[in-house]
Amino acid sequence: MGMHRLTEDDKKPCPHMRTLVSAWLDGALTGIAKWYVEWHMKTCPQCRSAVPFFRGMHHRLEELAHKGDVPNLGEERWEKIEKAWAEMDQKR
Ligand SMILES: [Zn+2]
Repeated sequence: MGMHRLTEDDKKPCPHMRTLVSAWLDGALTGIAKWYVEWHMKTCPQCRSAVPFFRGMHHRLEELAHKGDVPNLGEERWEKIEKAWAEMDQKR
């Protein structure tokens, strides 16, 4: 009652930002990728509203990693980021 609840749609960032935002919260982004995410957050209400969701997810992943339940995402994750980046460039 009177409490605002976010729906799934409210929490969704732009499709091309999903991987980037999660990497950004990991502190895994540097240089232009990091700059781009931070700039995009400032200009995109949709992605900004998704940050709490990502933070929650990030926290969960950290807990799982602590228990050793998460596979090493290092290289694979970077490949995904670069792929998302390339796809984004192609669409512009
Ligand atoms: Zn966005």
